[in-house]
Order: sequence, then C-alpha cells, then structure tokens
Amino acid sequence: MKKQKNSNGKLTSFVSILIILILIVANQLFGGNLYNFAFGIDNIDANNDILDNTTDSLSGVEDSIELEKEKLNVLFLYVGQADCTLIQKDGYTMLIDAGNKEDGKNIVAFLKHIGITKIDYLVGTHSDEDHIGGAGDILENMEVSKLYMSSIGTGKWYYDSTIDKAKEKGIRIVYPELNEKLFFGQDIDLVVKSAEKYEGISSNNSSIVLQLTYKNNKFLFMGDCEKESENEHFWEQVDVLKVGHHGSNTSSNENFLNQVKPRYSVISVGKNNEYRLPNKYVISRLEKIGTEILRTDINESSFWFTSDGNIIEKKEVSINLDKK
Ligand SMILES: [Zn+2]
Repeated sequence: MKKQKNSNGKLTSFVSILIILILIVANQLFGGNLYNFAFGIDNIDANNDILDNTTDSLSGVEDSIELEKEKLNVLFLYVGQADCTLIQKDGYTMLIDAGNKEDGKNIVAFLKHIGITKIDYLVGTHSDEDHIGGAGDILENMEVSKLYMSSIGTGKWYYDSTIDKAKEKGIRIVYPELNEKLFFGQDIDLVVKSAEKYEGISSNNSSIVLQLTYKNNKFLFMGDCEKESENEHFWEQVDVLKVGHHGSNTSSNENFLNQVKPRYSVISVGKNNEYRLPNKYVISRLEKIGTEILRTDINESSFWFTSDGNIIEKKEVSINLDKK
C-alpha cells in the first residue's frame, strides 16, 4: 500500500509538471496572452506598456470626446511645444505630426481611448523631433496605412528612425509632390500646397503643407513652413489656419496672411516655452487681419473643430497630452 501511495504521488507530481510545461508552451504560442485569452481581457489593453501609459496619460484628458460621425472633425491636440492634429471624416483618419518623443505613447493611448486604432494617413510634416518624435510609437501601436514624409531629412535621427520603423512594419512611405491630392472620402478635397526640397540649415521649409476643403469650409495646416515657402505660392482664403512654426516670426508674413485671411488661427505652442513663442510681431500681424487667435498654451488645452461643410463650430477642450 505504502509503495502504491509513493507511486501515485510521483505520478501526480509528473502530471503537475507536465501541465505546467504545457501551459508555458501554450502561453508562448499565444504571444504571452494566454492569461488574457483565458480571462477574456482585451489583448490591446493588456499590453503592459500601453496600459501603464494609458492610466498616466489619460489623467490629462478631462473632457470626453466623441467625434461627430456625420461631420468633419479637426482636433488640434495639446502636446506642449510640438504639433499633433487629428482629422477624421467618413471613417477616414489622418494624423498630422505626432508630438515629441515623450508624447508618442500618450497620443496612442488617447486615440485608442476615443476609439481610433486605424490611421489612413500619418503625415510627418518634416524631420524635427517636435513633429515626428512620437511617430515611432504611432507606427508601432496603430494600424497605419500610409506614412507621408518630406523627402528632406535623411541623416537626422528622428527622420531615419521613423522611416526605418515604417519599413519594418511594411507601411507604405510616400514623399508627396506639390499639388498632389490625397483621397479622404467623396466630399473632401485634400491637396499638398507645399512640399519644398529645401536642403538649407532649416528643415522647416520642407514642411508638407496640406489644405483641406469640405464643401464651403477650408482648413490650412502649415507645419513649420516659413516665409520663403509662403512667398513661393499663391494661397486661398481659408476658415481655419494652423499657424506655421508655432507662431514664430520666421513665418506668417503679412502678404501670406492677407491671402489666407483665416477666421480662426490656431497656434500650437508649449506653455512657458524656451523660445518665447508665439512671437509678439506674429500676434500683432494676426490681430491686424481680424482673425480669432486660439493658443494651446494658455490653458494647456486642445481645440476641436467640427464642420458640416458650411458651418464651423469650435470648442476648447481640456485635453493635455504633453508628457514633458
Ligand atoms: Zn515645430
């Protein structure tokens, strides 16, 4: 009897070890998510990095956002001294720039929080960190169809690493030409207004500039475009202008502003930034054309525009995705 007991004990231990081994192998096969699979936890939310970050980052999101499906939505997100603009219409999604490197995961968490997991166009306007620093996180964690990049920037770390990440993920990279159109649903006309091939000290003038027209409403997104580039083109009157280069005096010259004459001018700029932007001369040039100036730094907030093609509505929302 005693002998049999021992034999049974050994058998039990052997079976236990076997079960543990099977579970370890199965967990590997499920990509480490067997626990989540077994307990019904969503795989995306179960990603520790994102989960930790989501909890942190969403502390900066006080207003709930539910994009208006029937309308065009344009959301200028506060990412400190950087740019990040979300555009959505008819299920098409574009993200123009992705903040600084520290903001990347935060932006991903916010997008998922409002139900966006797929981006049709990720546009890195130019090679500077405050525009494409967070692009790697977007490419890594979102389903991105196409990456639009300026053709200038090779040799700069953020530029090269963004390109490398897109290649690694098999995402199509497009270097757009002037006047190139991007399809964004039937009622939208989205065109590249500037994509210069400047090789000079400043990469700002290589910014991809996009103009979006939805029926009677126009939006112009300038990136960090400066006066050299502004002077090279003719501009149409628009309703909303994303002011170039965070309100720096290198941009928004009088001649340009007199052409675009926006009703609203959004300046994406960090609170107490070291560059002391927006520049006071830019502010006075904007005031001179009678536009409503909306600064993200005043309340560290974001601006949300909706348009039905005729009427534009704007709302300041308490969304702060800056991690610096
Ligand atoms: Zn910038």
